[in-house]
Parts: sequence; structure tokens; C-alpha cells
Amino acid sequence: MKYFSLNYNARDVGFLEAVTKGLAPDRGLYFPKQIPKLEHDFINNLDQYSDHEIAYEVIQQYVGDDIYSNDLKKIIQDTLSFNFPIIEITDKIALLELFHGPTLAFKDVGARFMARCLSYNNDIKKEGDLTILVATSGDTGGAVADGFYKVKGIDVIILYPKGKVSDIQERQLTTLGENIIPLEVDGTFDDCQEMVKSAFVDPELKENIKLTSANSINIARWLSQMFYYFIAYKNRPNPDKKIIFSVPSGNFGNICAGIIAKQMGLPIDHFIASTNINDTVPEFLKSGSYTPKKSIQTISNAMDVGNPSNFIRIQKIFNNDFFKLKKVLSGFGYTDKLTEKALKEIFKINGYIADPHGAIGFLGLKQYMASLKNEEAYQGIFLETAHPIKFKNTVENILKTKIETPTRLRGILNLKKIRSPLSKYSELKSLLLSRNK
Ligand SMILES: *Cc1c(COP(=O)(O)O)cnc(C)c1O
Repeated sequence: MKYFSLNYNARDVGFLEAVTKGLAPDRGLYFPKQIPKLEHDFINNLDQYSDHEIAYEVIQQYVGDDIYSNDLKKIIQDTLSFNFPIIEITDKIALLELFHGPTLAFKDVGARFMARCLSYNNDIKKEGDLTILVATSGDTGGAVADGFYKVKGIDVIILYPKGKVSDIQERQLTTLGENIIPLEVDGTFDDCQEMVKSAFVDPELKENIKLTSANSINIARWLSQMFYYFIAYKNRPNPDKKIIFSVPSGNFGNICAGIIAKQMGLPIDHFIASTNINDTVPEFLKSGSYTPKKSIQTISNAMDVGNPSNFIRIQKIFNNDFFKLKKVLSGFGYTDKLTEKALKEIFKINGYIADPHGAIGFLGLKQYMASLKNEEAYQGIFLETAHPIKFKNTVENILKTKIETPTRLRGILNLKKIRSPLSKYSELKSLLLSRNK
């Protein structure tokens, strides 16, 4: 498979080169030259395949000859080492728990898959050590740190805003050590992002070190998210009904992967992009004009994105045909007040504690399903993208209940946080250059 740049001003590259580069040299996002169709036989008999076999079938054509088949199988086994349970909360609505990975957010799958692809690339190409540089507002950093932990030949430098990530998120970044280097920035997430951007365009760094990013536009992170939709389809309740997915969306990588799964032949009837008040895409779907905004802070902070980077990929899937897109995708945005109400409503139905992002998924699903003429013919599934413990204070205050700390988190609560302060770009630059000596 070859990938082209959506800025149309860079040469086509293979899978591993696109993964290593992250962004094309013309600053465009990579997009596959074709979206392959899967055999009907495979799709109709998903229940006869293991999750690993399904993931292999789904991703193998995107990887092409870049990774040997047995190595790709091993990468998938290592990536998918946890489950994706579906929980029915009403007779029409179920949720898909995507938080059973090590850092309790769905981003684990993409980060683990990407780390293993890069490590494989290092092993075979011997191009020298690689430094991953990433800015995080919370969830990405933890998933990337864990995904790349102890991966040979790769160092990870993570910039996060001091005092602006939750205690658990900070622990996930700062207690690993080894090849994970957390830098606490005296500033906002935008300041972190700005320094990372400066590093990527710095000619002196370009000359001296191999630098790459691990953010969600990387094709290894993006495409591996298709796995959830296929696995969920296999395990769906009420197989005779049509499936609708509601995806809590921020940068729109996850939902874009779902739409690709549909294009490959997975019979999904409709997608709902559920957002908080950062509702650039729902507004676009209403008005037809795309107007990026400055992001506004909410209680579902992993979706505080005013200009979602992956939306251009979704438009490309439909060749920028607005009406084709609208047939497959609806979108709704919700305030924090409504998110709180939804958390309470879900809790009241059957005692399930959702997180604020999942609660927005629930709202979008309910609103869309209420508009259907024949609601009984549909099974709605919303994605629970993080464990509520990651938003412990918010959720406990709203629901007036305690959330039990999952066992796999208890370990890090006693470890010491180790991080270095960072206040300006020149410090980051000297650190990067000194690591190359
Ligand atoms: C990152 C994140 C999202 C948004 O996912 P996108 O792929 O960026 O749309 C939603 N929920 C949680 C908990 C996240 O961490």
C-alpha cells in the first residue's frame, strides 16, 4: 500500500515510511491510495475468528510488504492484550468499553501498535536511534509513554503543562523512567505544542537527530483504531438489527477509522460524531461551512479541539461530497450541563458509571435514535473512551459516589514522580542535541 499527502505536494510513501515520518514533508496528512474491500465471507463469519485474526485481516493490506506476515501477527498479539467488552444499558443502547488497556483510555491500542511498528522498523533498517517528541494535554502522553516504554532504540520526550493534567495522568507520565523523559512545562498545552512544533522545523535538529511525533494523525495510530469496530461488530448484541455507532470525538481520528471500516465492507448503518461545545464538525454538518474555532475548556477535556486534524481525512473518504458524507455521518454538540445530566441518567438506569466523554456519546446516540422512524430495527452502540477514574473528581462530584480504583492503577499510585522542568524552547533544543552525543 502506498500513501499520498493530502496537501498533494509530496511523493507517495510505503507504510513504514509514513509511520516514521508522521506528517508528509509538505505538512499534509498521509492517506492510503486505496481503501481495500474485505471478502463478504470474512465479514459474515467474523464470529469464527479471534480478535487477533480479525485485526490481522483488517490491517494487513495497509501494511503491505513492509512488515513480514509473522512479525505483523506478533505486533498485533502484543498490541491487543486486553478485551473490548460490550455492555447493554437499555434494550436499544449498548456501550463499548475501550479502556481496558494499561492507561485506561482507548488511545492505548494506537500507541501500542505504532510503538511496535517503529521498533520493527528500527530493527530491520538500523537507521539509528529515534526520538519521539510529543506534547500532551493528558491522555495522549500516558498512552504513548506506556506504549513505547522500554522499546529499544526509541526515546520518548513528553511535554505537559504544569498543574493542568490530572494526578493520575501525571503519574502515568512520570513514574515509568527508563526511555520515557517527562518535561513539566511552566505554561499551557498550547505552549507545549508550540515548542514541539518549533523543534520539528528546526534545521539544526533536523541535521543532528531523528525526530518523530506520536500524535493521532500518525497512520499507525489512526488505522489500528479500526480494530474496535470489527471486534464490536463480532460481539454485537441483537445481530439481526442495524448498527449505529456514536463516537465521542475530538480530533476525529477514532471516528474516521470507523468510517474506513465501513468503507471496507463492515455493515455499519450510521455514525454519530458526538462532541462537547467544541462543535466545529456538528456545525459544519448543519450549515455546510467549516469554521474552525479556538478551543474551549470543558469537563470532557480530551475533546477540547476547535479544529479537528483528522476531519480532512473524513472528507477525503467521500471525495469532499457533502451529501454523501451526510448520509453516513451525523453530529451533535453538548454543553457541560447536559454532560452532567447524561452521567446521572446513565447511572440511574443501571448503576453504570460512565466518564464525561462516554456520556456525550450516549447523548448523541439518544438524540439520533429518537429521530428514526423505525427505532426498533436499530442497535445503538456508544464508545466509552476512558475509564471514569481518569476524571475521578469530576465524576465523583456529579454522581455523589466513589469510583473504585482499578487494580492495574494501584501500582503507580505509590511510585515517585520524576520529571524535569522546562520553561523555554532553547532548553528543549539543548536537551535534544545533548542526547545525540
Ligand atoms: C482522545 C480522546 C477522545 C477523542 O478521540 P479523537 O480520536 O481525537 O476524536 C475521546 N475521548 C477520550 C477519553 C480521549 O482520550
